[in-house]
Formats: sequence, C-alpha cells, structure tokens
Amino acid sequence: MPHDHDHPHSLLPPDPALRVKALETILTEKGLVDPAALDEIIDTYQNRIGPRNGARVVARMWCDPGFREEMLKDPMPRLREMGLYGRQGEHMVFVENTRDVHNVVVCTLCSCYPWPLLGIPPGWYKSDAYRARVVREPRKVLAEFGVDLPGETRVRVWDSTAEIRYLVVPQRPEGTDGMDEPDLAALVTRDSMVGTGLVPGPTP
Ligand code: FE
Repeated sequence: MPHDHDHPHSLLPPDPALRVKALETILTEKGLVDPAALDEIIDTYQNRIGPRNGARVVARMWCDPGFREEMLKDPMPRLREMGLYGRQGEHMVFVENTRDVHNVVVCTLCSCYPWPLLGIPPGWYKSDAYRARVVREPRKVLAEFGVDLPGETRVRVWDSTAEIRYLVVPQRPEGTDGMDEPDLAALVTRDSMVGTGLVPGPTP
C-alpha cells in the first residue's frame, strides 16, 4: 500500500539531527519554544541529572562489596529496584576498570547509550570520528581525552548495540578511604563511566 506523504513529516530532512534542528526552527518561529530553554533542558539531561544516576550506582559499588558483585553479575534486578530502568537501558552490562584493564564504550553503528544511567549522549559520542577511531586506535583517542594509561594496562573497547548497553565502573581514586557514598558519587564524572575519563581524586 503506497504511503501517503501529504503530511508535514515529508517536509523534514531525513537525517535525525537535521530533523530536530528543523523542528526547533519551526517551533521557535511560531513562538512555541524558547531556544534558551531548550538548551537548558538538554544541558540538564546531558550533564546534570543524567550522569548523576550512574554516579550514585558506581559510588555504591565502591562502598558495598555485595552490591558490587551483584551489579557485575547482572545489574538489572537492582536497577529496576532503584528505578533506573527504562528505554535505552533495558539490558545493561557493567564492566569494571582495574589496574590491568581499562574499558571504554562506543556504539560503532549509531549512538546507543545507557540513558537511564547517563542521560543523553554527548555530541562527541555520536560523532563519526569517535565511533570509527576509538576501535582502531583506542589509546590515542583516550590520550586526546586526557586519559594516559600505564603501558601494562590493557584497553578493552565495548561496542553497544540496541540490545546491550555498557557502563564502565571506574577505579576508585586514591585518598578517598574516609569518604561517604554521596561525596564519592560527586567525584564520578560522566566520561569516567563511558571510559573516556578517569575519576579525579578529591580536591584537598
Ligand atoms: Fe547505536
């Protein structure tokens, strides 16, 4: 049956990013949205609310060995319990960084990302350059992010799919022995949970 194209979506470009841009322009012109408010919403999900969920889970894993073990085995029951279950995060796998192995996550096909734990993916995660290069030359890409690893540390790249999303459990920094979970969570950055960053130690 031929698809009827006599409706507004045919006016929008096929590329999702351009479609969003076109929609934003239309809505702004009609006075329906304020672009500054949109930027604010995106920033909130991309940088603030989003990654804080993942950070809370990581901090708890650092503090509670039983919880850590459960999460590494199968995080889904606990994530459901914590309300961190939803679209784009239905099947999570946690991969833990150690002295021996550093994990980094990519989606080579598109931009799959664990939304319930990290929010909206940053622009670089969706870029062609990151998606192609992190597989070919992970150390070089990591160095560009400011992550310099000891020579003996192995780098493992995990390719997300529509079915499986990965979260990197970063190493707990030195000098944090006396810190409680909320303070530890505040140290955990978004990039450290994608593998393109390390968790900085506490500022004295
Ligand atoms: Fe994808």
